[in-house]
Amino acid sequence: MTSPAFAPAVLHVDLDALARNFRTLGAVTGVPVNPVVKADGYGLGAAAVARRLMAEGARTFFVARAAEGVRLREAIGPEPVIYILDGCHGDGAALLKASNLRPVINHPTQLQTWRAAGGGACALQLDTGMNRLGFRVEDAPEPFEGLELVMTHLACADEPANPMNRAQRDAYAAAVQRYPGVTRSFANSGGCFLGPDFAFDVVRPGICLYGGGPEGRPHDRIAPVASLIAQAVQVRDVPAGETVGYSQGFKAERPMRVATCGAGYADGVLRSYSPRGQVFVGGELRPIIGRVSMDVLAVDVTGLDVQAGDPVEIFGANRLIDDAATAAGTISYELLTSITPRVPRVYKG
Ligand SMILES: *Cc1c(COP(=O)(O)O)cnc(C)c1O
Repeated sequence: MTSPAFAPAVLHVDLDALARNFRTLGAVTGVPVNPVVKADGYGLGAAAVARRLMAEGARTFFVARAAEGVRLREAIGPEPVIYILDGCHGDGAALLKASNLRPVINHPTQLQTWRAAGGGACALQLDTGMNRLGFRVEDAPEPFEGLELVMTHLACADEPANPMNRAQRDAYAAAVQRYPGVTRSFANSGGCFLGPDFAFDVVRPGICLYGGGPEGRPHDRIAPVASLIAQAVQVRDVPAGETVGYSQGFKAERPMRVATCGAGYADGVLRSYSPRGQVFVGGELRPIIGRVSMDVLAVDVTGLDVQAGDPVEIFGANRLIDDAATAAGTISYELLTSITPRVPRVYKG
């Protein structure tokens, strides 16, 4: 084996925790879990994620783009069903057929395109109020040859008390009566926790598999999966009155010990982590100081025994990704999908 290049930031992916979350979502809902592995498995690596979930019993996957589906098909072989949330567009229908991918048909043009390409197994998306993708319920097509699954998407699943959830559920339950015998798919991650009448036939979670959560999700049931660990690359004393980083983004009011850590926005540590971001280092949560720069960020480690080479957890078991996301003014989905290709993914389990 050749020795790996020095990588000061690594994304550790715990596939055993992924598998536990998959089983938890199955147990909570009582129906098969059809994982959403779009955006390269929310940044964790769709091939590794899907292979492990197949070993746990997953047989159907969702991705967003046709190109994601083609790559996933190469990675996981001919057996599993793969749905393309984008549907089919123009010549793309032939590409889907060549890789045995199923489009999610969102509007009449897509239905025509699919039929013109010879049709075959596909899904239908209904819009039950989100006004994003899918046929309005009153415009939904008659049942047709090849229709295997009918789905809709919740707009507010991360707000369990929002009456929109029940309204969408009821609109969907009424609409699918038109498609007897077709598999019904309603809930994303948040929807899995809304109660048994939100489960229908199969669920379609993404973020909870990966250890993130919609707000209000019971955190104790979902295990962290991804940990972004940076190394301290240099540790220095900063005298009172001096400043740290670009634009003098931080001023030391007292003598400080500062660790420069090898993760920056080119690794996916958003600039918006400054000034509220915290990391777990030396057994404590400590503030990021100054501006996050392209390759490094600075952390106040005053009073801690931290040396160059020590690990600094940007998010993971000790700094939950949802808390990191809140500090950065975003959501766990964006944090995960922002991790760039230069960060090696290292798998456990
Ligand atoms: C992304 C997506 C999902 C998964 O959503 P999570 O909130 O990550 O569970 C499910 N369905 C559709 C249509 C999606 O676009």
